[in-house]
Amino acid sequence: MKIPRIIQKSGLVMTLLATLASCSLQLNENQQNPSKTKRNMIPSQTLLEQTIGDVEKDLGITFSSPIKISQDNGLTYPHYENGTIHYPINDQTQDLDSYQVIRHELGHAYVDQIRPRESESTPLAINGKGLNLQEFTKLTPYKDTIDRIIEEGIGEYFEKGVTENGKPLNEFEDNLGTANPYKLGFSLVDPLIDAFGPEAIRYLLHNKPITACSIGDLISYQQEALSQLNY
Ligand SMILES: [Zn+2]
Repeated sequence: MKIPRIIQKSGLVMTLLATLASCSLQLNENQQNPSKTKRNMIPSQTLLEQTIGDVEKDLGITFSSPIKISQDNGLTYPHYENGTIHYPINDQTQDLDSYQVIRHELGHAYVDQIRPRESESTPLAINGKGLNLQEFTKLTPYKDTIDRIIEEGIGEYFEKGVTENGKPLNEFEDNLGTANPYKLGFSLVDPLIDAFGPEAIRYLLHNKPITACSIGDLISYQQEALSQLNY
């Protein structure tokens, strides 16, 4: 049996079948979890190894290939690419919690191990967290909307861990363009990964929604994923 927690968490979602037509959705909020203590540690290989250990333990996963960290100076934002977390030290990154950032980027590393990225030259920006999807897409083009939402959702899940519940999808306003892809993505993937762990991550990466232009589409997709994974 692998369902109990999911039933609790997705009760609202399970009862709602929104039929929302527009391809734009409205949401812009900026809450941080105040219970987390900020840790401005040097983003070193040692910190990376410790963080990998924490994430593997928390999520019950294993990284199958080595990951490095590099403090390159030529880039603005931390991002993951081809086995390396690039973590520049500059004005934009000095106030970030490096442990949390690394956890998030490890989500992208895990995605890469499950489903290697197509060639993608533009890094995903960690400080895109304050942006809505339209702004974020300008910053990091070349990806489908749903890929962004799912991948940033997984990144957020790795960062937050299994204990933090996402906002139910039906509480998002139906304007995808103004939604925050990190918060929306987290709400999409959170109940699935909570209940089914790495199996849910594989499902998310190999079964994209056929349509994903409204919150209603995402709710339907989440419900379908829950029933498929529970089968
Ligand atoms: Zn990310």
